Amino acid sequence: MAKRMLSIVIPSYNEEGNVENTASVVTQIMKENGIPFEMVFVNDGSSDKTWDKLCELSRVNPNVVAVNFSRNFGKEAAIFAGLKTAKGDAVVLMDCDLQHPPQVIVEMYNIWKNNDVDVVEGRKKSRGKENGLYKAFSLWFYKLIGDSSGLDMRDASDFKLLDRTVVDSLNAMPERLTFFRAMSSWVGYKTEKVYFEVADRAEGESKWNVKSLIKYAINSITSFTSAPLHIVTVCGVITFLISLILGVHTLVNKILGNSAAGFSTVIILQLLTSSIIMFSLGIIGYYLAKIYEEIKKRPRFIIRSVMQNGREQNGEKDDV
Ligand code: UDP
Ligand code: MG
Repeated sequence: MAKRMLSIVIPSYNEEGNVENTASVVTQIMKENGIPFEMVFVNDGSSDKTWDKLCELSRVNPNVVAVNFSRNFGKEAAIFAGLKTAKGDAVVLMDCDLQHPPQVIVEMYNIWKNNDVDVVEGRKKSRGKENGLYKAFSLWFYKLIGDSSGLDMRDASDFKLLDRTVVDSLNAMPERLTFFRAMSSWVGYKTEKVYFEVADRAEGESKWNVKSLIKYAINSITSFTSAPLHIVTVCGVITFLISLILGVHTLVNKILGNSAAGFSTVIILQLLTSSIIMFSLGIIGYYLAKIYEEIKKRPRFIIRSVMQNGREQNGEKDDV
């Protein structure tokens, strides 16, 4: 069976300055290479004119499918809505700001088409213009996730081509709190890598700030690994060992008649153990909150409308 249509999913949040350019650049490259394609833009509740521009695009460019969320649900939700909507035999995820070079899509497509592979993963050659702290933090972050889940997450990105079978596997995963980058590795399948240079953002500003990045990191870690819960156990073992040593020390002091001394030890111990307990309770609380969120079984996103060829279509429901 010939491998055919490619869906390109593009989450877009306040990208009014980018959507038109991205659509025309991608269209041109796909046409030049004779790749049958559709572009699924997911407007993630933008507060600017992104949706108007997408509606206009869907009128003039038959390859554009525009999905409109009822509010901002975040990039993860936009990715999964795109995967639901995409009709292609393979799906590529890319950013709207052309930081993922569209030329690489052709490379991914050819690897997928000519070989027996299900996933073509884009890996960052260098991390673009990121500052040292950010780099160190992301290195640590991916190491934690990688070590605890056995996946190689360094230099991973959301820029990936997935075969239809992989997309179906992802669409069947029921969790509400998702971490696409890790989930798409977790499902397995035959994976090939391509390396790309992260380009500069075409227009506008990055949607991340320190707070949202920390939130994203904590969310991804807790959605994907229970390692922090094991830290609690390790802390317990360490404090138990310390208390054993100190217990013996106290007893010896008592027997030798020096027991009035050592008051400071008591205070330090008290502070240490209570902070470890608080910290541990916090971690457990975080996971409890996650379980609570999951069992509510709310949809990951709500689609307000879908436009194609200038007409409104029926949207996909998030109904796993
Ligand atoms: N994005 C989104 N919803 C959000 C934030 C971002 O759909 O709440 C999209 C955004 O439009 C872009 C992609 O996710 O296409 C990557 O965002 P950005 O360029 O801000 O992140 P960075 O490249 O700085 O990591
Ligand atoms: Mg970007």
